[in-house]
Order: sequence, then structure tokens, then C-alpha cells
Amino acid sequence: MIPYGRQSITEDDVRAVAEVLRGDWLTTGPAVTAFEAGLARWTGGVPCLAVTSGTAALHVAYAAAGVGPGDEVVTSPLTFVATAATAALRGARVVFADVRDDTGNLDPDAAGAAVTGRTRAVTAVDYAGHPADYDELRAVADRAGALLVGDAAHSLGASYKGRPVGSLADVTTFSFFPTKTVTTAEGGALALPHGERFTRAARFRNHGLVRDPAEQRDPGHGGWHQEVHDFGLNYRLPDVLCALGLSQLGRLPAFLARRAELVARYDALLAGVAGLRLPERLPYVEPAWHLYPVRIGGGRRREVYDRMRAAGIGAQVNYIPAYWHPVFEDLGYRRGMCPRAEAYYAEELSLPLFPGLTDAQQDRVVECLLAVLG
Ligand SMILES: *Cc1c(COP(=O)(O)O)cnc(C)c1O
Repeated sequence: MIPYGRQSITEDDVRAVAEVLRGDWLTTGPAVTAFEAGLARWTGGVPCLAVTSGTAALHVAYAAAGVGPGDEVVTSPLTFVATAATAALRGARVVFADVRDDTGNLDPDAAGAAVTGRTRAVTAVDYAGHPADYDELRAVADRAGALLVGDAAHSLGASYKGRPVGSLADVTTFSFFPTKTVTTAEGGALALPHGERFTRAARFRNHGLVRDPAEQRDPGHGGWHQEVHDFGLNYRLPDVLCALGLSQLGRLPAFLARRAELVARYDALLAGVAGLRLPERLPYVEPAWHLYPVRIGGGRRREVYDRMRAAGIGAQVNYIPAYWHPVFEDLGYRRGMCPRAEAYYAEELSLPLFPGLTDAQQDRVVECLLAVLG
């Protein structure tokens, strides 16, 4: 099976991990800070925090943003359910706003219509690696007195109007799951330009512990003393995995270049095929293509998916609208709420895209797709 995505691991990656395993620090050590510093070189210098998954990063982001019961979080339904689930777990009401028909990203007009006085965060999702409309969404968030969150699980290394993802939102989250552009097996990170919010996030990641005596309520105990002021969790990414991440970051330029090359080949090989829409790209963004999402017309997506799978091509569908999950249905969310996201979902198919995909394999994918559509 040619999967829709997969990791790219070299002997250098293996050596970097083995070196940490033989050392003193398996977790909370120097590889964590080195990985975070490496990430910050991709976020325009915005400080980063490594956590155990992209989902953990979103949970920390909402905690750092102060999202809680009574608040609303406006986001896109065309995303992995974690973008919304983590806000719901904080006690917030998730308000889904529709996407743009071309990029599949949160539509600023729809988001603008969805914000209220209770909106605490507007969460953009850089679908497929194409940055969302950050300037317009920033204006929407500012008008509502809300924070702008960027779920950049797909878009590490992308840029928008010359500014890197990670520098565009008040809190940006990344995922290092194996299908994502850089992997640590499981892992994630946040980029937070605001110092106080960074501190809140760092504490939430580490049980809420306050270690600086100057910040403690009752510091007179001794050197061992630490305090919890707000509940937190253990979302620390170990040195073992940070070493893998740092080694992977060294190849991020090559990963991005190969993905872009494969996208250009798909674009050329599939141009003008009847019943097929190819992913669009706005002129002022430099995407970090995580997915190659085509849209298959004529109600044939299911058939194309089944026949490609049968032929050994692991095409994928990204994503079922988040509010179609029964957990949201049970909360009263109804189908039909975001028609453009639903139409996108009805037609979407992600073709295999990962750095190790060879031209020959890609040709097989294209031949198979054309044979089914023909
Ligand atoms: C992968 C992904 C996540 C979750 O990341 P994990 O590391 O798998 O927890 C969140 N949002 C989006 C858009 C994703 O693609």
C-alpha cells in the first residue's frame, strides 16, 4: 500500500535518538531546549514549547488563552476533531464557522458573523499546509476582543505575506505525528509571542508548577519548594523524542522542497481532468503542503476511494466535518450548518504525499486515478 503520508527517517535520526538514550537526560533535559530553539528558527524567533502531541498543544493553547466555561471558540469544521474537542474539554462552546470554497480554510466573513461578546478565541486551521487568512482573521478576533489561535498541524515551514507560520497568531500549535511534515513519533509544540501567555502555557504543560520563588505565594520553605496556582497536566515531550525532532528539523527544507515538487507534478499531471478540482493556492502564501486534497465531482468520491484502496493506494479523506461526530450531534449540532465545509468533505480525497514518494509511485497514483475517472 502506498500510504497518503508517512515519515522519513534516516540513520542520522536513529543516531540522534540513540545518543540521548545513552546519556543522562531522558526527559526535561537539554534536547528539549535545543528542539524548542530549533523550532523558533522557523517561527521568526517566536518562542516555542514542545509538548506530547498536537492535541496537547491545542489543549495547552486554550488553557494559556484562558478559555473556560461560558466562553466560545470559533473555528473551522474542516479539521481534525482535536481542534474543537480540546476547546470543549476546557468547558467552552465551540462555534463552527464555514470555510472558503477554494482553500478550505476558515472564511473570515463567516468567522466575523460567528463571533459574539463571549468569543474568547478564533482558531484558524492551515488546511493541507496552506496558511489561513491571518490578516482578516486577526481583524475579526480583535473586533471581538478574542485571541487568534492557529492550528498549524499541517503548516510548519509555511509563510503568509512573507511572514512565517508561528508568528501570525497569538498562539500557534504544531503536530509531529508521523504523517506530518516533521515527526517525533508523537509530539507537538506551541509558538507564543506573548511572554505572560508563554509562562502560562509552560506551567500548564508541567502540572501548573511554579518554581520561581519570586512568583510563589509562600516561598520560605527551602530549595525544594514548588507550588501549583492553576491545575495543569504533564504534557512534557521527552528528550528522546526532541532529539528526533531536532534531527528532523535539519531536513525540513528538503522535506518542504520535495513536497512542493510532488505537488507541482500532481498539478501538471492532473491539469484539465474533467470532474476533478485541484487544490488552489493564494498568490501571497508559500504553503508547506501536508496534503494534496483533490475534489472529485459527480458523487464519485466513495467509488474512487474504494478503487484506489483496492489498487494499493492509500488515499485518505480529510476531514469529516467536526460537528458530524456524534459527540457534537448529541450536544445539538446539526448537519447543514456549514454547507461549504460539507460540500468540501463530500468531494475531498487526499492523494499520497510525502518526501519518500517516488516519481514512479506518483505516476502509479495518477494512472490509477485517471483509470477510475476515465
Ligand atoms: C494531526 C492534527 C492534530 C492533532 O495532532 P496529534 O499530534 O495527532 O495529536 C490537530 N489538528 C490538525 C489539523 C491535525 O492535522
